[in-house]
Amino acid sequence: MPRIAYVNGRYIRHAQAAVHIEDRGYQFADGVYEVCEVARGYIVDMTRHLDRLNRSLSELQIAWPMTRSALQLVMREVVRRNRVINGLVYLQVTRGVAPRDHAFPAPGVKPALVVTAKRSDPAAAAKKAETGLAVITVPENRWDRVDIKTVGLLPNVLARQQARSVGAQEAWFVDPDGTVKEGASTNVWIVTRDSRLVTRPADHGILRGITRATVIDVAAKLGLEVEERAFSVAEAKQAREAFITAATMVVMPVVTIDGTPVANGHPGSVALSLRHAFFDIAEKIKA
Ligand code: PLP
Repeated sequence: MPRIAYVNGRYIRHAQAAVHIEDRGYQFADGVYEVCEVARGYIVDMTRHLDRLNRSLSELQIAWPMTRSALQLVMREVVRRNRVINGLVYLQVTRGVAPRDHAFPAPGVKPALVVTAKRSDPAAAAKKAETGLAVITVPENRWDRVDIKTVGLLPNVLARQQARSVGAQEAWFVDPDGTVKEGASTNVWIVTRDSRLVTRPADHGILRGITRATVIDVAAKLGLEVEERAFSVAEAKQAREAFITAATMVVMPVVTIDGTPVANGHPGSVALSLRHAFFDIAEKIKA
């Protein structure tokens, strides 16, 4: 069965799907995106993802490419047509196609929309969670509007590659004051020695992760206290646990930071219990 993508009004074979060379996403990274988890046939936290899309679009003065309810239908249709039971649905909206010029195009240029879906293997992810991930730290070098989920991800790409090149799986951006911002595509958490969950406040310094928001709900349901404050790399290295969150991996334990083991170097019980409870508490919309 061929993969199917939605591109500007048409469902077409993924292998043949293409956008115009003057799409402003391609020329200027002038666009935004969302990634939702698909689990057991449901799109997870779609409402929160579309709320964040709305904010990203309005911050950049890009119009919705279609109504919110129509976009929901397209996302569900792409998931169904690709028979994704577990995986991801990706959407990208750019300012559209226009002759290359930095300033916004004339009114009337329509935003461009691409929606794709991809399967993933929940057993492989569960196995990864049992082992945990290695992370490195890198200096923060991004612009100060990382709260907008734009497709301009070059520093994130380079940071992730730097992690890969030393056998790690994620890179954490660190401010000059030594505090941890977030991962290349994840939010960062620690569990302190006195069992408090700590994550950086979702101000302009990080992306307000949807998984992060739902993990705060999950923690409340499990009776765990969450503290939203900055923490240093040194504190993370001495923490009882560390973990990262994202729609692509839900909750993933971190077992080493720059080669230093976190606690005993094995995934912690808090991260694993949040991971296990996540699906039940998150919003689920049948694809
Ligand atoms: N931070 C960054 C920079 C990201 O790119 C992402 C996800 O792509 C996240 C955090 C996690 O966000 P979410 O939980 O909405 O996937």
